[in-house]
Amino acid sequence: MFTALYQAFLDVLAPRICLICGALLTDERVPHCLGKYVCTRCFDRLSPADVSEALLAGISSHFRGDELAISSITARFQREFSSETSQESIHEDSAPISLLLYALKYHGMQGLGRSLGQELGYCLQILNQTSYDAIVPIPIHSARERERGYNQSLRIAEGIADIVNIPVEKDAVVRHTYTLSQTYLNVEERKNNVKNVFSVGRRGNALKGASILLVDDILTTGSTLNACAMTMLEYGAQRVDAATVAKA
Ligand SMILES: [Zn+2]
Repeated sequence: MFTALYQAFLDVLAPRICLICGALLTDERVPHCLGKYVCTRCFDRLSPADVSEALLAGISSHFRGDELAISSITARFQREFSSETSQESIHEDSAPISLLLYALKYHGMQGLGRSLGQELGYCLQILNQTSYDAIVPIPIHSARERERGYNQSLRIAEGIADIVNIPVEKDAVVRHTYTLSQTYLNVEERKNNVKNVFSVGRRGNALKGASILLVDDILTTGSTLNACAMTMLEYGAQRVDAATVAKA
């Protein structure tokens, strides 16, 4: 009762609006997990990502056979620009799904990360991809985590765990090197940028013989996910699959 009243009070002060189109959100009883953040019209327009086989084939070409550490990839959404986006304003942050990931990373919207994770969790459940020993979020460097206040991939991992009931291991791997943004790098530069940046953390033993679901916000060339997966395999993980909210 108190929570409902408090929310009603907040809605008068700062009404909830759709992060994509700006429409007022009036009904959160929607058949998906993003009802607090996205209107139904915008949700219905988010494109689903390709099937796992196509996603893996897409990144495989970037790696030599012995370099590929990821066994399977699942993504929930495909980054696409809406037909209303003008040609001049198209850039990678203007796609509807990018607006959500941007809000998660740079506007402190941690609850959105959890909801996006739940959406991804339902997707994994439908695909019957739930036999993992642990969910591992891609770690960010401790300096970046202090600056941001949280690791966005951990929030997504927690959302997945809400649905599939698998433990999250947030300290199994660490990122010991502060890397530059991958945004403007080509495939080879991305691979070099993340080479040797991960190492096992204080919960590294949880990796031994384990089947791991590695989680990140977006799949681009797969370099970061693959570098982290390689570290986990080298430390004794049996298999590493990847799951991301979106495919770029
Ligand atoms: Zn909307």
